Amino acid sequence: MRVEAIDRTICLGIESTADNLGVGVASSDGIILANESSTHVPEEGGIHPREAARHHAAAIGNVLTGALKIAGIEATDINFIAFSQGPGLGPCLRTGATAARALAAFLGIPLVGVNHCVAHIEIGRLSTGAEDPLVLYVSGGNTIVSGFEAGRYRIFGETLDIAVGNCLDAFAREAGLAYPGGPAVEKLALEGETLVDPPYIVKGMDLSFSGLLTSTVQKLRSGHLRLEDLCFSLQEVAYAMLGEVTERALAHTEKEELLLTGGVAANKRLRSVIASIAEEHGASPRFVPQGYAADNGAMIAWTGVLAYESGVRTPIESSYIDSRWRLDEVEISWRS
Ligand code: AMP
Ligand code: MG
Repeated sequence: MRVEAIDRTICLGIESTADNLGVGVASSDGIILANESSTHVPEEGGIHPREAARHHAAAIGNVLTGALKIAGIEATDINFIAFSQGPGLGPCLRTGATAARALAAFLGIPLVGVNHCVAHIEIGRLSTGAEDPLVLYVSGGNTIVSGFEAGRYRIFGETLDIAVGNCLDAFAREAGLAYPGGPAVEKLALEGETLVDPPYIVKGMDLSFSGLLTSTVQKLRSGHLRLEDLCFSLQEVAYAMLGEVTERALAHTEKEELLLTGGVAANKRLRSVIASIAEEHGASPRFVPQGYAADNGAMIAWTGVLAYESGVRTPIESSYIDSRWRLDEVEISWRS
C-alpha cells in the first residue's frame, strides 16, 4: 500500500554515530513507518571507527532500500532528510552525513542535522507518551541525567570518563563474553550473589565508571572470583550510582515522569532501580521499548520531524559533523 503524503510530511533519518547504521522513516503525525539497521561487529576488540565507517558505506544501499520498502514509500515521497550530526565517532558520522547530503541534493529536498542525544530523548517521549520527563539516558557512548528547562535539555549529571554501556562492553570483552557486553553481563549477573566490593564513584552530580571497570577487570584477572559475582557486582554498583544521581535530580526538578532511554535501558535490573525511584517520588516510570532503546534511524527521523516542523533547516554548507556536540547546546525549538 502506498502512503499518501498529502497533509503530512515524511522524514527519512540516518543514524551513524557508532557501530550501528540505521535508517528510519517517520511521519509528522508521529508514526514510525520503518526502522531498519545493520550493525558492524568487530572481529576483535571494541569499535574501530574507520572499519565501522566502511561497513556503513557498504550497508547504506541495502538498509535504505529496505526502509523505503517497509515504509511503503518511494524516495520521491520523502519531504526531507535528517541525519545524526553528532556527537559520535568522526568517520562514522561523516559516512552518514555524506549519504544524507547526497540524498537531499539528489531529491532536491531540505536537510536537518539532528543531535543524537536529543534523538534518544525524543524517541523515548514519543514511544512512551512521556511529556516532560526527567531522563536517564544510558548507552555505549553516553551517560546523562537530563531534563527540559528553559528551552533546552539541561544536563544535571553525566559521566566524567567512560559511559556505563562502554564499561559493561569492555568488561565483557575481557571476560570473553559475547558482543555487545550488556546483555551477556545481565544474564550472568542473575547467577551472582556476592558483592565483591567494587569502587562506587559519584562526584556531586557526576559519575565515573573507569575505576569500576579497572577494579573489576583486575579482580577477574586474579582468577579468585566467580564471573557471575563480578557481573552481579558490576551491575549493582553501576546502577546504584546511576540511581543516586537520578533520584537527586528527580527530587530537585519535581518532574512527574522518569524516562529511561538508550541501549542500556533494555536492562531489567536497571529498570527495577528506576521504577523504585519513580515510585518513591510519586513519578511515573517510562521505559523506551526495546526496538528504540539502542541507536536507531527512527529516532533521527522523528527528531528530524520535530525540528523541521519548528523551522529548523541545515544548509549543506553548515552540515559538517560535530563529534563533540553536547546535548545542552541544542535549542529545543519545538518545546516551550
Ligand atoms: P546504544 O549506544 O544506545 O546503541 O546502546 C548500546 C549499548 O547498550 C551497549 O553498550 C550495550 O552493551 C548496551 N546494552 C544493550 N542491551 C543491554 C542490556 N540488556 N543490559 C545492559 N546493557 C545493554
Ligand atoms: Mg546512542
